[in-house]
Amino acid sequence: MKYDVIVIGAGPAGLSAAIEAKKNGLSVLVLDKGAIVNSIQHFPTSMVFFSTVELLEIGDIPFIASSSHPTRVEAVNYYSRAAKAYGLQFKGNSRVMSVTKISDGSAYFRIEIKSEITSELGFLLARKVIVATGFYDQPNRLNVPGENLPNVAHCYREPGLHFGQKVTVIGGKNSAVEAALDLYRHGVDVTLLYRKEWFGKSVKYWILPDIENRVKNGEIKARFKCRVVEMLPGKVVVDVDGKREEIGCDFVYALTGYHPDVDFLRDLGVEIDGKTGVPTHDPNSFETNVKGLYVAGSIVAGYDCNKIFIENGREHGKFIAKSLSAK
Ligand code: NAP
Repeated sequence: MKYDVIVIGAGPAGLSAAIEAKKNGLSVLVLDKGAIVNSIQHFPTSMVFFSTVELLEIGDIPFIASSSHPTRVEAVNYYSRAAKAYGLQFKGNSRVMSVTKISDGSAYFRIEIKSEITSELGFLLARKVIVATGFYDQPNRLNVPGENLPNVAHCYREPGLHFGQKVTVIGGKNSAVEAALDLYRHGVDVTLLYRKEWFGKSVKYWILPDIENRVKNGEIKARFKCRVVEMLPGKVVVDVDGKREEIGCDFVYALTGYHPDVDFLRDLGVEIDGKTGVPTHDPNSFETNVKGLYVAGSIVAGYDCNKIFIENGREHGKFIAKSLSAK
């Protein structure tokens, strides 16, 4: 159970890093606490990527899809095929509990893992570790009473579940806007709650007119300059421009963005900038202050989840592999 490289996180950035290391003749294992491309598996069922196929490719494997913007299902299939094509070793449902440098001078890290299925503990050894854990598993919480109610979710999947219901969507960027439109088009009575005065330019230009017109026409109800105060069974309490309002709803989607698991990195000894959440790393090699431990993908940007996407995160592995082979 000794590897040259263990990659933690089987998203596109982690898989790309694993492929690049493998291309350089290194033995590699990819670990994930869930399935391969676990986040993509949990994206909205009928999601279509903003990025085009060529910007999502890894390992120089062409991504052939039904259109230039692939669907979620096509992406899951593509990344699985890419991993298979390179013969990547993958161990899913394995949560990394700790990564410690062995102090006997052997230059190995000891990676303790726990099975998400059986809770069984095990350990693996690797000379180098690449952390590519992304951010989609950590939604930004509002930290208001009632957020843990069973009719409140932080990720959106399926409009059909809510036919005939009243649904409140919180947030005003791409996830919230796409969910609100999808729900509206599937017979759902949608209210969107956004803390700003109006939608901004970060909403994709081909979606922005749609949401603006639905709101202007009253087809999607919206409250701007709105702060959620509390969630109760059957309603959300908000403060709209200083006035308290109660909005009746059957279900709430708080689509308020994500953040990386910086505590996990900190536990591994990586220094984290307190303000930005950026892990200390060499921008040329992506090696952190912990020698032999690298970061790849969106976690490199810390709390800014609109900076590193698949299209640039997939490149990190090439720099890491170059640094590994130089060593
Ligand atoms: P996001 O861009 O971080 O937007 C989060 C939204 O939640 C913002 O409107 C933000 O308000 C609001 N918000 C955050 N904290 C809040 C709080 N405490 N109280 C109230 N509102 C709060 O997250 P996202 O929309 O989920 O997008 C994440 C990434 O996924 C982006 O890179 C996006 O482009 C991508 N995405 C891709 C697709 C696709 O490919 N089809 C679809 C959706 C998203 P402010 O606007 O005031 O900051």
